[in-house]
Amino acid sequence: MNVVWFKRDLRITDHVPLASAIGQGQTLALYILEPLIWQERDLDARHYEFLQESISCLDLQLKKINLPLTIKVGNAEDIFRQLHQRFGIKAIYSHQETWNDWTYQRDKRVAKLLTELSIPWYQAQQNGVIRRLRSRNGWARQWHQYMSETPLAIPLCTESQIDKSDDLPTSEEIGLTKSNCDHRQVGGRNEGLKLLNSFFASRGEKYSKKMSSPLTAYQSCSRISTYLAFGSLSVREVYQLALTKKNEIYMHTEPGSPWRSSIRAFMSRLRWHCHFIQKLEDEPTLELKNLHPSADGLRESCFSTERFNAWQHGLTGYPFIDACMRALRATGWINFRMRAMLVSFASYHLWLHWREPSLHLARMFLDYEPGIHYSQIQMQSGTTGINAIRIYNPIKQGMDQDPEGVFIRKWVPELSSLSKVEIHTPWLTNIPTDVYPKPIVEEKIARREASSRIYSIRRSPKFKEISANIVDKHASRKQSTRTRTKKQKNTEPKKSWKQPELF
Ligand SMILES: Cc1cc2nc3c(=O)[nH]c(=O)nc-3n(C[C@H](O)[C@H](O)[C@H](O)COP(=O)(O)OP(=O)(O)OC[C@H]3O[C@@H](n4cnc5c(N)ncnc54)[C@H](O)[C@@H]3O)c2cc1C
Repeated sequence: MNVVWFKRDLRITDHVPLASAIGQGQTLALYILEPLIWQERDLDARHYEFLQESISCLDLQLKKINLPLTIKVGNAEDIFRQLHQRFGIKAIYSHQETWNDWTYQRDKRVAKLLTELSIPWYQAQQNGVIRRLRSRNGWARQWHQYMSETPLAIPLCTESQIDKSDDLPTSEEIGLTKSNCDHRQVGGRNEGLKLLNSFFASRGEKYSKKMSSPLTAYQSCSRISTYLAFGSLSVREVYQLALTKKNEIYMHTEPGSPWRSSIRAFMSRLRWHCHFIQKLEDEPTLELKNLHPSADGLRESCFSTERFNAWQHGLTGYPFIDACMRALRATGWINFRMRAMLVSFASYHLWLHWREPSLHLARMFLDYEPGIHYSQIQMQSGTTGINAIRIYNPIKQGMDQDPEGVFIRKWVPELSSLSKVEIHTPWLTNIPTDVYPKPIVEEKIARREASSRIYSIRRSPKFKEISANIVDKHASRKQSTRTRTKKQKNTEPKKSWKQPELF
């Protein structure tokens, strides 16, 4: 029999491995629930609960094509060995997976086992990420080509292989503690499609204007990231629906209409999605090590548990930071700008190495996608060596993005009696410290110190040389389809030498 191994692609649409396996005859649709991965520090019960819902939805979809899902609980190598002994596996079909270090190591072990058993393992491209990419030149062209191809139709399965499914363990049974993510999204393709439809129907019209404030972003962003991360939706199908919507918009609106800039911004982000995952595909250590070695030793010895705890529990004394962190904990989502601000505050003002904060945020983000996550974390911490240093001022951000203090009042209710001016600087009022803490650091001083420390590493002669190599390997190309000349390749990334930007 052929096995379709469902991984982070919990759908039956735009699914090359599924179509290929069915085309080859007798097929078993398999999901392996691996308890060991759930011991990893980047995962949380909220992810597991979302996964359970996504798997139920996948099972219903598969039944429609006469192929019920078989669930097995255990480690992948054992499961494949047992299935092979009982049924004889002809081939395994799956998507390529660019995920965390645990899945990377697991895939290497599975590949070794399958080679020993002489079972071919066909892994199809999952999205715009290219395995064994030789050069970033021309990447954008290849991305567009992949996104424009019509997905394979999925045939009815006439020879399904069924095996007894194991029950999915509860989150407690696999050692996860309750998530307290009471307002999270619900898993499954239908939910993802509903969001996409409502975004294209109306929610997305002012997307480009409203994405920056957490007051409007929950409604005006697409909110499909978690469905992409679990593969309930494919990037390609979303891209193709967006293209149809874009054509419609351009036919029916005048230049300068909000829909035009919004749909363009949305479509660029679909490309960014793959661009960032490509970085992890090309450099798996991105999850664990500074991309630019000049950042090594910068923060490692300064870790303060007190500062970290205050940050992760939303008790830093900076109302907008605390509101964002508490909202994230309760909903599993916060918008891009606020994510960047949370990381900037941890990395610069609190001078924490990014690794612990990144794990906390991974647990909190329902849409945790390692390739995007660690690339962004390193960018916002100043450890890539190729991006502008951005230090967000949390007071200014609060005043800009939540001028009336509505968001702060919702998530930091102990400040709700303060006026819209006072609420951004409660330390200037007589709020007692047993109600709300004083600021954990002095903003201006902490920012200045961080700025001078981060720039000190950029002065070493080696810095430029290494940065040029990083640009060559990972940076997006302005001239996406043309080959860069040798001169261009050696040009240092201008961005790195700018003064820190204050947001
Ligand atoms: C520190 C940090 C960590 C992040 N971690 C993750 C993560 O683990 N998973 C994740 O999906 N996104 C992550 N992002 C990127 C971004 O914040 C989210 O993709 C976005 O907020 C998701 O909401 P949405 O689906 O409404 O996005 P929309 O704004 O509606 O965008 C549509 C899709 O485009 C992609 N996208 C949007 N912004 C970005 C971006 N900046 N980089 C790459 N792809 C993008 C996502 O797939 C998103 O679903 C992170 C950003 C930062 C600053």
